[in-house]
Amino acid sequence: MLDKDATPTKEIAVIGGGAIGSMTAWHLARNKHLVTLIDPLLKKRFDLEEQLNGSTASLGVLMGNIFRRSHGRSWSLRKRSMELWQQWMVLLNTPESPLRLETPLVQLARSASEATLMAQLSQERSDLGVELLKENISMENQRLWPKSHYGGIISHKDGRINPLLLQQCLLHALHKHNVDNVEEKVVLIERGSTKGKRQWHIHLNNGKSLAKEIIIICAAMGSDALIKPLGHRLPIAPVLGQVLDLELKADEKNWSGWPAVLISEGVNLIPYKTNRILLGATLEPGTKKSTDCLKQMKNLNGEAPNWIKESSIYNQWSGIRGKPIGRPAPILTTLEPGLIIATGHYRNGILLAPATAEWVANTIKHQNCL
Ligand SMILES: Cc1cc2nc3c(=O)[nH]c(=O)nc-3n(C[C@H](O)[C@H](O)[C@H](O)COP(=O)(O)OP(=O)(O)OC[C@H]3O[C@@H](n4cnc5c(N)ncnc54)[C@H](O)[C@@H]3O)c2cc1C
Repeated sequence: MLDKDATPTKEIAVIGGGAIGSMTAWHLARNKHLVTLIDPLLKKRFDLEEQLNGSTASLGVLMGNIFRRSHGRSWSLRKRSMELWQQWMVLLNTPESPLRLETPLVQLARSASEATLMAQLSQERSDLGVELLKENISMENQRLWPKSHYGGIISHKDGRINPLLLQQCLLHALHKHNVDNVEEKVVLIERGSTKGKRQWHIHLNNGKSLAKEIIIICAAMGSDALIKPLGHRLPIAPVLGQVLDLELKADEKNWSGWPAVLISEGVNLIPYKTNRILLGATLEPGTKKSTDCLKQMKNLNGEAPNWIKESSIYNQWSGIRGKPIGRPAPILTTLEPGLIIATGHYRNGILLAPATAEWVANTIKHQNCL
């Protein structure tokens, strides 16, 4: 819902145009602020690995309603995001980039104790579309699921959105709301003032500078370097995520009975096209790719069905998830008047993008950040 109360228009720069920064810029522009979004990767190609950011490398799984805890900030953000996704998806959708939430999401239990927790959760969250997984009756032409020794849980309102379509929709929406896109890297932020009014001076890679009332930092791994010269520190560690796009051997089987997302042994499996499937997981700290981790992922801890074992790698890519050091993800805080940071979403940046954008808009409105 748009904020109808009169919030004075501010001149705002959002630094970082991944899912978090782009959605925040769009939401602030809808709330009548004058927004500039700065990121050298804004309109880059999605088919080159070196031009992917965390968002365009991601799988876009929205796992909100089956979060284990039922209280605290993480649960509130997830719950709110899932509500906002339903509303905002409709607003962001374009005929060229038909964005939709593909459902449901199924998670297979890895142990008897996990299955017990899932049974409890299904009772608590039935109103949110969560239920215990009924026995998987495999149909004749269906591709077999990975083995499930303990059953699982099905969440009818969780699922997946295509992150590349999302980025295209956001670019379109930013244009529609007159957000100024600057395809440069920010090299330095300095405090300053113009005519007695406090302003931030934002220095760009191309030697130019911008002056703004408010800065929102959504630069993931680039964030700490931007705030350090201002005397703030919020270190973020890189955690590599790898994705395999597998081509299956031609067969007579199909995806009937498959959910949009199936989680087995901590690996997300996303069927798409007739003979292709995406596999992704968080396996490795750091930035170095390991073929052992990829093999382990493809093998699903020994539970992979033959049709996955026999598949070939059609494509593969990786991306960095930014994990805050010494504090929970994400970092949502006002560092000083007019300087807000909303980043470090680690595994859930796509899921939490709407709730983050709303938090930023509310912070500007209510917390007297100027
Ligand atoms: C393989 C993989 C799978 C994932 N799967 C999922 C999933 O299924 N569901 C989910 O919710 N999340 C998933 N994630 C996590 C999610 O992608 C991240 O949490 C999310 O991308 C964070 O978004 P962001 O906008 O903060 O960061 P990013 O998308 O990384 O964007 C940060 C942007 O800041 C820009 N930037 C940095 N420094 C500067 C600077 N100095 N000046 C200007 N711009 C700058 C960068 O160019 C970049 O574009 C996955 C991540 C990976 C890598």
